[in-house]
Amino acid sequence: MKAFEASKRYFEIAADQLKIDSDRRDTLLIPNREMQVQVTIERDNGQLENFIGFRVQHDDYRGPMKGGLRYHPEVDLDEVRALASLMTWKTAVANLPFGGAKGGIGVDPNSLSTREIERLTRSFVDQIHEIVGPDKDIPGPDMGTDHRVMAWFRNQWEKYHGFDPSVITGKPVEEYGAKGREEATGRGVGLLTHKLMKRLGSKPGESNVAIQGFGNVGTHAAKFLDEAQFPIVAVSDITGTYYRAAGLNVRALLKHKLEHPRGLLEGFDDCETLPPDALLGLSDVDILIPAAVGGVITEENVDQIQAKVIVEGANGPVYPIADRILSDRGILVLPDILANAGGVTVSYFEWVQNRQHYRWTLDRVRQELEHTLSDAFEKVWQTANQHDVSLRTAAYMIAINRVQRAGELAGFA
Ligand code: NAD
Repeated sequence: MKAFEASKRYFEIAADQLKIDSDRRDTLLIPNREMQVQVTIERDNGQLENFIGFRVQHDDYRGPMKGGLRYHPEVDLDEVRALASLMTWKTAVANLPFGGAKGGIGVDPNSLSTREIERLTRSFVDQIHEIVGPDKDIPGPDMGTDHRVMAWFRNQWEKYHGFDPSVITGKPVEEYGAKGREEATGRGVGLLTHKLMKRLGSKPGESNVAIQGFGNVGTHAAKFLDEAQFPIVAVSDITGTYYRAAGLNVRALLKHKLEHPRGLLEGFDDCETLPPDALLGLSDVDILIPAAVGGVITEENVDQIQAKVIVEGANGPVYPIADRILSDRGILVLPDILANAGGVTVSYFEWVQNRQHYRWTLDRVRQELEHTLSDAFEKVWQTANQHDVSLRTAAYMIAINRVQRAGELAGFA
């Protein structure tokens, strides 16, 4: 199943609950604008190379559009469209005054030098600078991009439009970035997992956690949950699953990753090593956190899952048919549009600070993050109970209602 079709299915289930007419559904689903551009760079060896870049602006009823930039070989228009629509629902569930967008380039950043990635970013900005801006569309980091890419993006955009760091978020902290942005998505995943387990009457020490993906989201989720006394029994990355029934030493894992030349867990030997996919089927796992890529839990492998709770750190990790099977089996899924909303929430805080020319402390960022996510969680939990629907459908219902209401107030045309 294609990524946009999957996110559309989730939208339709919630739209059925809300009894939304088909013309309104189209208005809410069809992206406002899709831009595809040629991104040409000169490689270090003097040869020209062309890549395809995308920016999809899904919806702006609730405010300027917001969404990351992904550099990955599998980036295509369908994936970017799906991720852009998820951003519309995510900013709405978290009640941030933003719409949704996403962008990316079909490229393997590991195949380029640092200077080539800089040229790629600047060339991409040359193509799309007119449609982005602090009050139009604000990019941020995603897979394959980081604070350096954000700094190059801002610098190139400012050459056309003048000083305004609020054009992009996820910048280096000393270059108008926000403290706490880097940890925000994983921290939010951890905070919400803790909240959910508390609501289910389970104490941290009683629930084993497995985390797929040990990148930005996975590491910070692991750190938070470890500090909150949850035993992390397994983590994985592209090199394998690292498993220890009595609980892994998370500090040692983080140190190993930091010291590995490519930031991988390869060679970590204070535990058992299994193939990467083995993580999904581990029998002594209560909480499974997919925090790597989309589409990892499908109709084909859903039967392996033995966890009681899934918290979607990644975007779109569970396909709709698998989602229904999980629900029939009583496995609770905390959906991506809520679970990983911590990142865009602190991106919003960065934008606010830039616009006010003011800096918040890390404590303030963390407090406001917890406040925003707690409010969103409570609303989703109540809606799910009130309408007897899944947490995912409840989250979509809240989001769609908010976007629709903004559209109605604006006149919808
Ligand atoms: P990242 O590139 O920092 O990390 C990805 C990790 O997943 C790496 O450890 C990689 O080795 C691992 N991985 C990739 N394929 C794997 C596989 N098949 N099995 C096991 N591990 C695998 O990316 P990230 O920023 O942590 O993002 C992860 C996910 O979270 C993505 O879906 C992203 O869209 C989503 N997300 C990220 C943010 C953010 O702020 N970074 C915000 C919201 C959502």
